[in-house]
Amino acid sequence: MIRNAAAIARLSLLEKAALMSGANVWQTRAIPRLGIRAVWMADGPHGLRKQKGDADHLGIGESQPAVCYPTAATVANSWDEALAAEIGAALGREAAAQGVDVLLGPGLNIKRSPLGGRNFEYFSEDPELSGRLAAGYVRGIQSEGVAATPKHFAVNSQELRRLVSDSVVDERTLRELYLTAFEIVVREAQPWALMSSYNLVNGVYAHENRHLLTDILRDEWGFDGAVISDWGGGNNPAAAVAAGGTVEMPSPGFGSTRAIVAAVERGDLALADLDERVDELLTLVARVSQRASRPVVDVAEHHALARRAAAEGAVLLRNEGAVLPLAAGTRIALIGAFAEQPRYQGAGSSIVNPTRLTTLREAIAKTGLELAASAPGYRIDGARDAGLVTDAVVAAHDADVAVVALAVPPTEESEGLDRPRLSLPEAQIEALRAIAATGTPVVVVLAGGGPVETPWLDDTAALVHGYLGGQAGAEGLWDVLTGVVNPGGRLAETMPVALADDPTAGRFPSDGRTAEYREGLLIRHRFHAASGIAPAFAFGFGLSYTTFAYSDLAVTADGATVTVTNTGSVAGSDVVQLYVRRSTPSRVYRPALELKGFAKVRLEPGESVAVPLAFTDRTFRFWDAASARWQVEAGEYDILVGPNSAELPLVATLGVEGTIPAGEPDPALAEYSRGEVRDVSDAAFQALLARPVPASVWGAPPFRYNTPLDQLRFSPSRLVRWGFGFLERRKIEAEAKPHPDLDTLFIYYAPFRTVDKMTAATTRTTAAVLEIANGRVIRGLLRFGPSLLAGALAERRTRRRFEAVSGARRR
Ligand code: BGC
Repeated sequence: MIRNAAAIARLSLLEKAALMSGANVWQTRAIPRLGIRAVWMADGPHGLRKQKGDADHLGIGESQPAVCYPTAATVANSWDEALAAEIGAALGREAAAQGVDVLLGPGLNIKRSPLGGRNFEYFSEDPELSGRLAAGYVRGIQSEGVAATPKHFAVNSQELRRLVSDSVVDERTLRELYLTAFEIVVREAQPWALMSSYNLVNGVYAHENRHLLTDILRDEWGFDGAVISDWGGGNNPAAAVAAGGTVEMPSPGFGSTRAIVAAVERGDLALADLDERVDELLTLVARVSQRASRPVVDVAEHHALARRAAAEGAVLLRNEGAVLPLAAGTRIALIGAFAEQPRYQGAGSSIVNPTRLTTLREAIAKTGLELAASAPGYRIDGARDAGLVTDAVVAAHDADVAVVALAVPPTEESEGLDRPRLSLPEAQIEALRAIAATGTPVVVVLAGGGPVETPWLDDTAALVHGYLGGQAGAEGLWDVLTGVVNPGGRLAETMPVALADDPTAGRFPSDGRTAEYREGLLIRHRFHAASGIAPAFAFGFGLSYTTFAYSDLAVTADGATVTVTNTGSVAGSDVVQLYVRRSTPSRVYRPALELKGFAKVRLEPGESVAVPLAFTDRTFRFWDAASARWQVEAGEYDILVGPNSAELPLVATLGVEGTIPAGEPDPALAEYSRGEVRDVSDAAFQALLARPVPASVWGAPPFRYNTPLDQLRFSPSRLVRWGFGFLERRKIEAEAKPHPDLDTLFIYYAPFRTVDKMTAATTRTTAAVLEIANGRVIRGLLRFGPSLLAGALAERRTRRRFEAVSGARRR
């Protein structure tokens, strides 16, 4: 149903087409004659990044100061939807105060592999947890009159060649794992916008994927907002409009405008489709224009919220001999370069210029602890330094406790690249082991947006994983270490013993044209449950300074109730988790455990509470490929309740009537039924996909519009290969820098289309560049100059016409 029919009736074709792409890096186009204003967008998911000067989408240029909250990976450990909503509201207020209409977050892609480069920006490996927390953010952000933009829709699991990678995934895995979080956020929080991802999904770019954007997002889930492309994620503008993609960002000049006008005039694009997209954009403009005045932000209050969130998101993983909490007056040796140069956020478009930044070293002053000594212990760049280790040992010697800050190096955790390893640098481990050898109890505080391998665990008395705590992360950590806050964080993702235990190990990130999601539904904790391979720390795990007992599980058709008691001597919080497992034979293979409910409880010592965990329409459903719909299979299900996925003391069995009778599993999928998904055969994957597995090789030249530039090494032209050597060297230099050089990485892996999508050039120039790359160097060079001229003239003509028609320029 068109909501802005009157305005649409007054728009010319050119104006409609021009509204389908951005005016510049952050704004949509305005139509002044009809009072349609531009909307301002800005990142991002854990703090505002409104740029001051030169605009870019990679977090390079400076932005206005804003409060840097803990990243989504950290807040996810709180399992606290109310906290998520509070942070969302604070983000929304800061956005509104800086005149931002659309906040580009939260990010909620499923963490398929622990190596995903942007995992720090995402919530969890589990769709239920990701979706419910993201819904909290969206409700909070939009309560301030600012549009939230859940991203990146969809199946955007790897950073390597993210603009050209094709995620090959079967429909059931797509629905049950990768789309469910988005479904929850759309159905439960009604976001006004959504960002499509860079990648292709089953051969079609996300921003022009009708199955995703129209059939599922709008028709099934009822999304009524605008779909915004990721920056440079637009490909074929007319295809996007037809499929359900609303705005192409940033600005591809007027090239996309001309392409849309031409497609309508040729009859290739229905005007009705264009009108629907324009309607979505105008609705977005109307929604964000309802804010009355700019709110005033209490920065100190927001900093306090960031501190509370950091403490709530920290996870206590080990506490031998109750070394924690640290009593006032304890003499501390504070060791680690990261105690002075904190890792508190990741790199890329989400980067925030914080209003303040506290370090462990500074913040210890207000804890009541005594700082006996401090030392860096290791170099952040990973180079070994025996002198630093010796100093650290000396510092640790006479202290009561050594608090050792370790972290995933900043170069290893960034948008644009995936993590190269799951281990910490040897230099950090060496320092840790030497400190432990002094006999002084060691408390490790870990920073990083995901898990690390912990073969050094026995060298610690306690381990707190603080994830990326934002600007007040250090204060939040001391709150946990000293017991001001009783740790309530529970891992929102599995920490495997070793990377090799992950089902995608050796296959992630995919280096080919496609990324094959061969493991299907069995990622992370679902894989561990199915294969029996124990993780180091299970999904949902976390210790407390108190203890909890679970009793009296009662299950009805509507849900479960369980009693939780704080059996210790201090107040604390726990996360009650409900998992479902099929207990009778099933017509489909299933994860051995699926999280279907959770609740955060806060209890005084000795207090008990009955916790209701209602079933939802997601509790028993599975995606039935045969009928192409959600079904509930008749039969029996175990309902398991407890404090984490590896400790579920209460089990009840429930008979469910279902919408489809029980059946037998497909023998072609026996590998999946057995949980053997580390090396799935072609035959089994093909059976799962229900179509032939597409080729993953890039193929020899000729290069095309969407071939990534790194393939230039295979150009038939020696000259081009020689020229590519410069880019290659620039990339090697970039990798040696202490901070990721995202610009170089972006260019290196970008497809040829970026020439016209991200610069002032047009597709004619891209075509000329392709001629050169494909070895027709002279012809390409001869066309290059004229293409730029012709492009510039075409741009000027369209701009002038648009400005004259829309009223941007007075006639
Ligand atoms: C990122 C998005 C971000 C956009 C704008 C892209 O590179 O993938 O998450 O919102 O840039 O900065």
